[in-house]
Amino acid sequence: MDNITSFNIILSAPGVSHCSYEPLFGATAPSRLVMPIPFFKEILDYAVKRGCHLNLLAGEEPLDEYLTLARESGVSCLLVVGPRHVLPGATVVAGSKIEVEREHWFHSCPPDQERIPHLIVRFRPSQLDSLTEFLSQAVQCAGRISLFMTDLSSFTGEDFIKYKEQLHRFSLLVATNALGVPSVECNILTDRLVLTNPNHCDSGVTHLTVAPSGDMYLCPGFFYENPGDSLGRFPEWDIINSHLLSLAYAPLCAVCDAYQCRRCVLLNRKTTGEYNVPPREACVLAHLERNASAEIAAADRFRGQFSPVIPVDYLDPFQITPEGGGMGSDEFIEHVVQLLGAPLAHLDAFEILKLAYRVDPMIIHKIKNLRDDFHD
Ligand code: SF4
Repeated sequence: MDNITSFNIILSAPGVSHCSYEPLFGATAPSRLVMPIPFFKEILDYAVKRGCHLNLLAGEEPLDEYLTLARESGVSCLLVVGPRHVLPGATVVAGSKIEVEREHWFHSCPPDQERIPHLIVRFRPSQLDSLTEFLSQAVQCAGRISLFMTDLSSFTGEDFIKYKEQLHRFSLLVATNALGVPSVECNILTDRLVLTNPNHCDSGVTHLTVAPSGDMYLCPGFFYENPGDSLGRFPEWDIINSHLLSLAYAPLCAVCDAYQCRRCVLLNRKTTGEYNVPPREACVLAHLERNASAEIAAADRFRGQFSPVIPVDYLDPFQITPEGGGMGSDEFIEHVVQLLGAPLAHLDAFEILKLAYRVDPMIIHKIKNLRDDFHD
């Protein structure tokens, strides 16, 4: 419970989606829910006492009263709004007509605001052909872009080919400075260049979601998919099998270096039935993005600026571990280490031991014991 340091607060639903989940109720849910002001005050009081951060997810209702209370409380809040509701400093979720929206955004903002700080772009597989064009326009108006593919579980082989092509086209524009902006910050392309550790979503590990009704969820997507999935009523919650959400229980994700991947537990549960097992689509997508980042890192324009992203010859780490695939245990270990260990292959044994020690101070002791066992 102490690790939860921030909350997504759904001010009204259906509302905005700040990620890949669909902000729409299923057939059985209420048509509209709005968070009562007294309850919002309770959340602010809690956040003040615990030093929590809040992401306020707007709906269609007026925001003035919520924002005044949030400002007066002094709580650190980030406001996420839809394209028709832009306020200065807010994170904006873009629709699909960026040219039209752009005009509207800047019409709503003070004259000195040239760019919105953070633009969230939600893209469907059917829109993939226009991804480069869309991103090229988006970088003109936003300091940072976070792109989320929706309907990932419906991705086909052809969609992956399109995604790869579009990433390549966009990375080329970034690498050759052809976009006419001083810098580009986009989660799927440039985050991997600066991350040294995974930047997973960590729903249920570091943050939770509060619905207008007061029910709590791992993320807004769980609420929209099934309001009956509540973890409890704010401010009490109970996550059964919460250990399954942690990286320690996702062994392949723990050694994967596609650090920009969100490791979406909503998608995992929907597709594989397990919180800690990603579907093939998520892994392939993350590795295509990793490869596009490698192209940028290797570009002349950025020479020496970023650590190289070492090529790996797989897109889906699970494909290389076909439950043993008929291999003996030693053969299997060798196979996995060869593939997953490729990005570390240039390090000498002493450097690897130093890294291993950081991960687990008992590791050297354990390796020595293992070696002694083999020699006995
Ligand atoms: S679990 Fe995290 S990554 Fe997945 S939809 Fe929810 S907020 Fe987004």
